[in-house]
Amino acid sequence: MDSRTIGILGGGQLGRMIVEAANRLNIKTVILDAPNSPAKQINATVQHIDGSFAVPADIEKIAKLCDVLTVEIEHVNVPTLKKLAKENPNLKIYPSPETIELIQDKYTQKLHLIKNGISVAQSVDIPEANEQSLCEVGEKLGFPYVLKSRTLAYDGRGNFVVEKKESIPDALEALANRPLYAEKFAPFVKELAVMIVRSIDGTVYSYPTVETIHQDNICHLCYAPARVPDTIQLKAQILAESAIKSFPGCGIFGVEMFYLEDGELLINEIAPRPHNSGHYTIDACVTSQFEAHVRAVLDLPMPNNFTSFSTSNTNAIMLNVLGDQNIKNKELETCKRALETPGASVYLYGKESRPKRKLGHINIIGSSMDECERRLEYILNEKPLPVP
Ligand code: ATP
Ligand code: MG
Ligand code: MG
Repeated sequence: MDSRTIGILGGGQLGRMIVEAANRLNIKTVILDAPNSPAKQINATVQHIDGSFAVPADIEKIAKLCDVLTVEIEHVNVPTLKKLAKENPNLKIYPSPETIELIQDKYTQKLHLIKNGISVAQSVDIPEANEQSLCEVGEKLGFPYVLKSRTLAYDGRGNFVVEKKESIPDALEALANRPLYAEKFAPFVKELAVMIVRSIDGTVYSYPTVETIHQDNICHLCYAPARVPDTIQLKAQILAESAIKSFPGCGIFGVEMFYLEDGELLINEIAPRPHNSGHYTIDACVTSQFEAHVRAVLDLPMPNNFTSFSTSNTNAIMLNVLGDQNIKNKELETCKRALETPGASVYLYGKESRPKRKLGHINIIGSSMDECERRLEYILNEKPLPVP
């Protein structure tokens, strides 16, 4: 399909699914991450780089092996990417290093969105975190507010909800030695997300609006489409599109939002890469988020409506497969029930079972959300499936 090689910074499950999509198109990929990482396990056609996407010398090594460099994680070393882009104009880096830089610091990301007229939760910088400064934040934003690490956050590890003045010492301890900012608490009724593809010419295409349900700050379920009025679905897509129009470069982006009681939407955060809330696209949409990313960064053709549901009555629920708190590999019981379930597809990432770790996901497709929910109940609780 294309003789260029895509280098991927990061070899987790998102990288693994980019590799799967590239493999089908016979596009070569090379990975930088720890040995035997999930993406490397399914690609033995090239010699990968063992190392870290945070280490400049390792990024320089992979850059020599590829034509297009992309990421499956935003916590990469941006100065090295900027240097490579300057030294080697033939190397394409998507999303652009400037975009990764703006997004990887959540407070800088917020300032960028505000500058571009995008609604976000009110945010306050905290140059020096101590009892007094966090108290002042409480006076400004009200309690509760959310204290967040500006960098290196995932699955809520980097967030602390400051309920009241008395919670401040615990907050300081939980997020010690991290650069911090604070956000006004958003009393959302639902969390929504939209995947956006940005092509090389800057055009943006939105996937359907989905609803994510978190447990302990980790995505548990994703309903596609979101169970909100059509007008809200459309508003979410428009908001996500305008946000992504403001970031240079191309590829896939995940846009997380809060849907408030009065109908207002606020952007929570943006991921410059494939996103957990887009896994349903593998089975539910014309083109998956992973294939769309591969095509976008190589500037390959896209069909009309490639972001749409495959059929007009496609509904989907994605269930994340997380490691059990007590019993190793217990998650496989859930996966086995999914194997018995019509319309369900199981994806396992090749990761060791550990408590709360994202080990895989299950896509459940049905012709109505009720049908998806019945199938989900069986997979989760062993409730019998109705006889057809
Ligand atoms: P990930 O990258 O895995 O999505 P993260 O560690 O970057 O997570 P956030 O997305 O900032 O964390 O927050 C995790 C969850 O915490 C959100 O999905 C939401 O449920 C809750 N949350 C975050 N910010 C706020 C806020 N301002 N008001 C209310 N709830 C919030
Ligand atoms: Mg995040
Ligand atoms: Mg998030």
